[in-house]
Amino acid sequence: MDTPRFQDIKEPRPTQEGLTAAYAGINAALDRGDRAAALANWDALRRRYETWSSLVHLHFAQDTADAVAKAERDYADALAPEAAELETALKRRLLADPDRAALASLAGDHALRLWETDITIFDPAIKADLEEEARLSARYTELLASAKLEIDGKVLNLAGLGPYAQSNDRETRHQAEQVRWRFFAANATVLDDLYDQLVKLRHRMARTLGFDSYTPVAYRHLHRVDYGPDDVARYRDQVLRHVVPLVGKLLEQRRAANGWDRLRFWDEALVDPAGNPKPIGDHDVLVDRAQAMFDGMDGRLAAFYRLMRNGGFMDLKNRPSKAGGGFCTSFPTAGVPFIFANFNGTHDDIGVFTHEMGHAFQNWESRHQPGVDYLWPTMEAAEINSMGLEFLSYPGIGHLVGDAAADRFRRMHLIDALAFLPYGVCVDHFQHEVYANPTASPTERHAMWQRLEAMYLPWADYGDLDFLLKGGRWQAKPHIYGSPFYYIDYTLAQCCAMQFWVRSRQDYPAAMDAYVQLCRRGGSAPFQDLVRSAGLVSPFADGALEGVVQEAAAVLGVA
Ligand SMILES: [Zn+2]
Repeated sequence: MDTPRFQDIKEPRPTQEGLTAAYAGINAALDRGDRAAALANWDALRRRYETWSSLVHLHFAQDTADAVAKAERDYADALAPEAAELETALKRRLLADPDRAALASLAGDHALRLWETDITIFDPAIKADLEEEARLSARYTELLASAKLEIDGKVLNLAGLGPYAQSNDRETRHQAEQVRWRFFAANATVLDDLYDQLVKLRHRMARTLGFDSYTPVAYRHLHRVDYGPDDVARYRDQVLRHVVPLVGKLLEQRRAANGWDRLRFWDEALVDPAGNPKPIGDHDVLVDRAQAMFDGMDGRLAAFYRLMRNGGFMDLKNRPSKAGGGFCTSFPTAGVPFIFANFNGTHDDIGVFTHEMGHAFQNWESRHQPGVDYLWPTMEAAEINSMGLEFLSYPGIGHLVGDAAADRFRRMHLIDALAFLPYGVCVDHFQHEVYANPTASPTERHAMWQRLEAMYLPWADYGDLDFLLKGGRWQAKPHIYGSPFYYIDYTLAQCCAMQFWVRSRQDYPAAMDAYVQLCRRGGSAPFQDLVRSAGLVSPFADGALEGVVQEAAAVLGVA
């Protein structure tokens, strides 16, 4: 097989006329009673469209200052609701097929369930609201990207603060947080106003679609077909009971180890009293050393990484006009995904690299799934693939941090994983309250956050950081603005990823094999089915979280 190369992946720009004609052809096949041809043509069309759309958004992220890339992204964003309308109309027609069994044998039962969910949350009547929602979300992204923060004689963006915020020097960490939150305070009115508009807009869309509130719309949008808000509320409660006390103990341990009178907010990022272990080298060193790490983990993973490197399917270096963050995107016509990150020299480089490689490996392993709906699972399942690989990389992590720091890195990663859970469920609980009370004022929303924060993050000591003292911490979290209700997915996945960690300590090859099989299943089943098929316990089951938390507490020496 020839090595696929990123530069060879090309897809012509679709037009509304072209899409309309293509859908007319698919409908004509259905008119003739040829379901198989209709579904095959539709799948091929969606693969081409998604490949094109992924390329457009990736090119823009690689250089946000490129006017051509920006114009192409605007074109894609304007075409998306039109494509969604054509797609939803076809899903409606297919689901009206009286011979359900024949349809299911071709498309798959789970795909039909996904389409049934989709058709309840799209109506041409909300097209203008959807465009407005995209515009408001984009304004938030642009506002954060515009941050010019001065520290240490340099001007940095928010991501650039990372190394300062986890510096060994306490005063530097404090300064980094002062600079960060001064930026948010200076934009407080805009941040409140944008969120207020988004909440009211989403509530209005829900009402137009016939729902009482936005919450069920968001659950459907995220394809949560096998659990609901009550299950999520019980999970948050598990975190409150089993994780919050443990994180409190870990932070108290750190306070004592450092000899501080109290542990401030800016101390939370310094997990290791000796300094958070850093990557062994820069981008080129990490990319090279990772091959040895993956070689030692699993042959399939190692071969895949070689293919990603040789084909140019990675862009991990930080550059001035590059978009922030890390992600994995895919090109369904080609099968090989692409990972994107901004290395900054901290341990986050290793976290984001193993995380995005997990997403990429899953997408590669599931490339033979029959339909485009199954290439990615729902997000909480997808995050098991990514967070799971972070944990499965533990034995070989010395390749990336140096053998002397490997134990300290694993300890830091495990503490971070636990400490994330209370914050993650707090973000989720907050959003449930916000959308249950869509007429609340910005001041009332800040009060809601403060009440929840006191419950889930009782240790938070903001010192002189006024913006945080006034309940503004959530406003730095892009998901709250742009991806409502998504955040709980990371915490559900963490519970599952930690189960892989527990199993890998008992039998590494067996855990790795179960992981690869889970990746291969892609999105062919709902979340809890995928979890059980991998031999894991659903996070909603009693004791699932408690079990992994106890194991982690024992390993960390915190009983
Ligand atoms: Zn992820």
